[in-house]
Amino acid sequence: MNRLPCLFIASVCLWPLSAAAGEPAAHVHGAASLLVAIDGKNLTLNLESPLNNLVGFEHTPRTEKQKAAVRAMAERLNQPASLFIASPVAACTPLSVKLESPVLEPTKPAGDGHADLDGEFVFRCEHPEALRALEVGLFQAFPRLQRVDAQVAGPRGQSAVRLSPQQRNIAW
Ligand SMILES: [Zn+2]
Repeated sequence: MNRLPCLFIASVCLWPLSAAAGEPAAHVHGAASLLVAIDGKNLTLNLESPLNNLVGFEHTPRTEKQKAAVRAMAERLNQPASLFIASPVAACTPLSVKLESPVLEPTKPAGDGHADLDGEFVFRCEHPEALRALEVGLFQAFPRLQRVDAQVAGPRGQSAVRLSPQQRNIAW
Protein backbone atom coordinates (compact mmCIF):
# COMPACT_ATOMS: atom_id res chain seq x y z
CA MET A 1 0.00 0.00 0.00
CA ASN A 2 1.53 3.27 -1.10
CA ARG A 3 0.19 6.07 1.04
CA LEU A 4 -0.07 9.25 -0.91
CA PRO A 5 2.49 11.78 0.27
CA CYS A 6 -0.09 14.47 0.88
CA LEU A 7 -1.44 12.46 3.80
CA PHE A 8 1.72 13.26 5.70
CA ILE A 9 2.09 16.92 4.95
CA ALA A 10 -1.36 18.37 5.41
CA SER A 11 -4.24 17.75 7.77
CA VAL A 12 -6.57 19.02 5.09
CA CYS A 13 -5.54 17.30 1.94
CA LEU A 14 -7.23 18.22 -1.26
CA TRP A 15 -5.48 15.67 -3.40
CA PRO A 16 -8.05 15.49 -6.14
CA LEU A 17 -9.52 12.08 -6.84
CA SER A 18 -10.89 13.76 -9.92
CA ALA A 19 -7.38 13.92 -11.31
CA ALA A 20 -7.71 10.16 -11.66
CA ALA A 21 -11.46 9.78 -11.99
CA GLY A 22 -12.13 12.70 -14.27
CA GLU A 23 -9.63 11.86 -16.95
CA PRO A 24 -10.07 8.67 -18.87
CA ALA A 25 -7.67 6.02 -17.67
CA ALA A 26 -5.13 4.81 -20.19
CA HIS A 27 -6.50 1.94 -22.25
CA VAL A 28 -3.95 -0.80 -21.61
CA HIS A 29 -4.86 -4.42 -22.25
CA GLY A 30 -4.32 -6.45 -19.08
CA ALA A 31 -4.87 -3.43 -16.82
CA ALA A 32 -7.94 -1.87 -15.22
CA SER A 33 -8.66 0.86 -12.70
CA LEU A 34 -10.83 0.63 -9.61
CA LEU A 35 -12.00 3.52 -7.44
CA VAL A 36 -13.20 2.51 -3.98
CA ALA A 37 -15.27 5.10 -2.11
CA ILE A 38 -16.64 4.68 1.40
CA ASP A 39 -19.34 7.19 2.25
CA GLY A 40 -21.48 6.51 5.31
CA LYS A 41 -22.88 3.02 4.89
CA ASN A 42 -22.24 2.95 1.16
CA LEU A 43 -19.26 1.24 -0.39
CA THR A 44 -19.06 2.26 -4.05
CA LEU A 45 -16.68 0.65 -6.53
CA ASN A 46 -16.07 2.10 -9.97
CA LEU A 47 -14.33 -0.22 -12.38
CA GLU A 48 -12.97 0.83 -15.76
CA SER A 49 -11.51 -1.92 -17.92
CA PRO A 50 -10.70 -2.52 -21.56
CA LEU A 51 -13.24 -5.03 -22.85
CA ASN A 52 -10.43 -7.26 -24.03
CA ASN A 53 -9.69 -8.13 -20.37
CA LEU A 54 -13.25 -9.30 -19.84
CA VAL A 55 -14.35 -10.97 -23.07
CA GLY A 56 -11.21 -11.22 -25.22
CA PHE A 57 -12.34 -8.78 -27.93
CA GLU A 58 -13.59 -5.19 -28.19
CA HIS A 59 -15.66 -5.10 -31.36
CA THR A 60 -19.39 -5.63 -31.73
CA PRO A 61 -20.09 -9.30 -30.93
CA ARG A 62 -20.88 -11.11 -34.17
CA THR A 63 -20.68 -14.84 -33.58
CA GLU A 64 -22.80 -16.80 -31.11
CA LYS A 65 -19.64 -17.51 -29.15
CA GLN A 66 -18.87 -13.79 -28.86
CA LYS A 67 -22.45 -12.99 -27.86
CA ALA A 68 -22.26 -15.72 -25.23
CA ALA A 69 -19.01 -14.25 -23.91
CA VAL A 70 -20.68 -10.86 -23.47
CA ARG A 71 -23.65 -12.45 -21.66
CA ALA A 72 -21.29 -14.43 -19.40
CA MET A 73 -19.35 -11.25 -18.56
CA ALA A 74 -22.54 -9.37 -17.66
CA GLU A 75 -23.79 -12.27 -15.53
CA ARG A 76 -20.51 -12.42 -13.68
CA LEU A 77 -20.38 -8.67 -13.07
CA ASN A 78 -23.99 -8.72 -11.87
CA GLN A 79 -22.88 -10.93 -8.98
CA PRO A 80 -20.60 -8.43 -7.26
CA ALA A 81 -20.57 -10.24 -3.91
CA SER A 82 -18.22 -12.83 -5.45
CA LEU A 83 -16.02 -10.22 -7.15
CA PHE A 84 -15.55 -7.78 -4.28
CA ILE A 85 -15.28 -9.35 -0.85
CA ALA A 86 -15.36 -6.76 1.92
CA SER A 87 -14.41 -7.35 5.57
CA PRO A 88 -17.09 -9.86 6.67
CA VAL A 89 -17.79 -8.07 9.97
CA ALA A 90 -18.79 -4.96 8.02
CA ALA A 91 -21.82 -6.93 6.74
CA CYS A 92 -21.91 -5.43 3.24
CA THR A 93 -24.56 -6.55 0.78
CA PRO A 94 -24.88 -5.58 -2.90
CA LEU A 95 -27.30 -2.75 -3.53
CA SER A 96 -26.92 -2.01 -7.24
CA VAL A 97 -24.83 -2.73 -10.32
CA LYS A 98 -24.61 -0.46 -13.35
CA LEU A 99 -22.71 -1.62 -16.41
CA GLU A 100 -21.91 0.51 -19.42
CA SER A 101 -20.22 -0.73 -22.55
CA PRO A 102 -20.82 -0.55 -26.29
CA VAL A 103 -21.15 -4.35 -26.42
CA LEU A 104 -24.09 -4.18 -23.98
CA GLU A 105 -26.01 -1.80 -26.24
CA PRO A 106 -26.78 -3.56 -29.50
CA THR A 107 -28.30 -0.37 -30.90
CA LYS A 108 -24.92 1.35 -30.58
CA PRO A 109 -22.40 -0.71 -32.51
CA ALA A 110 -19.00 -0.80 -30.85
CA GLY A 111 -17.16 -0.50 -34.12
CA ASP A 112 -13.79 -2.07 -34.49
CA GLY A 113 -11.65 0.17 -32.32
CA HIS A 114 -10.79 -0.17 -28.66
CA ALA A 115 -13.65 -0.15 -26.17
CA ASP A 116 -14.08 -0.27 -22.40
CA LEU A 117 -16.51 -1.47 -19.81
CA ASP A 118 -17.44 0.86 -16.97
CA GLY A 119 -19.05 -0.70 -13.94
CA GLU A 120 -20.45 0.84 -10.79
CA PHE A 121 -21.05 -1.52 -7.88
CA VAL A 122 -22.70 -0.21 -4.73
CA PHE A 123 -22.79 -2.14 -1.46
CA ARG A 124 -24.65 -1.22 1.72
CA CYS A 125 -22.63 -1.97 4.85
CA GLU A 126 -24.33 -2.41 8.22
CA HIS A 127 -21.06 -1.78 10.06
CA PRO A 128 -19.02 0.53 7.84
CA GLU A 129 -16.65 1.31 10.73
CA ALA A 130 -15.49 -2.32 10.49
CA LEU A 131 -14.74 -1.97 6.79
CA ARG A 132 -10.96 -2.19 6.59
CA ALA A 133 -10.22 -4.35 3.59
CA LEU A 134 -11.48 -5.58 0.27
CA GLU A 135 -10.48 -8.69 -1.64
CA VAL A 136 -10.80 -8.22 -5.39
CA GLY A 137 -11.91 -11.41 -7.14
CA LEU A 138 -11.72 -10.01 -10.66
CA PHE A 139 -8.50 -11.87 -11.47
CA GLN A 140 -10.06 -15.32 -11.00
CA ALA A 141 -13.19 -14.28 -12.89
CA PHE A 142 -11.28 -12.69 -15.78
CA PRO A 143 -7.87 -14.35 -16.26
CA ARG A 144 -6.75 -11.85 -18.94
CA LEU A 145 -6.67 -9.21 -16.23
CA GLN A 146 -3.17 -8.83 -14.83
CA ARG A 147 -3.22 -5.51 -13.00
CA VAL A 148 -5.74 -3.31 -11.23
CA ASP A 149 -4.75 0.17 -10.13
CA ALA A 150 -6.97 0.80 -7.12
CA GLN A 151 -7.60 4.01 -5.24
CA VAL A 152 -9.45 4.18 -1.95
CA ALA A 153 -11.21 7.26 -0.57
CA GLY A 154 -12.87 6.96 2.80
CA PRO A 155 -13.01 8.25 6.37
CA ARG A 156 -9.38 7.19 6.88
CA GLY A 157 -8.13 9.25 3.96
CA GLN A 158 -6.97 8.26 0.54
CA SER A 159 -4.57 5.61 -0.58
CA ALA A 160 -3.57 3.81 -3.72
CA VAL A 161 -2.45 0.27 -4.39
CA ARG A 162 -1.60 -1.80 -7.44
CA LEU A 163 -3.29 -5.19 -7.42
CA SER A 164 -2.25 -8.31 -9.31
CA PRO A 165 -3.29 -11.98 -9.35
CA GLN A 166 -0.77 -12.46 -6.52
CA GLN A 167 -1.87 -9.36 -4.57
CA ARG A 168 -5.64 -9.17 -4.56
CA ASN A 169 -6.24 -7.40 -1.26
CA ILE A 170 -6.75 -3.74 -0.52
CA ALA A 171 -6.45 -2.78 3.15
CA TRP A 172 -6.85 0.63 4.73
ZN1 LIG B 1 -8.31 -2.26 -26.52
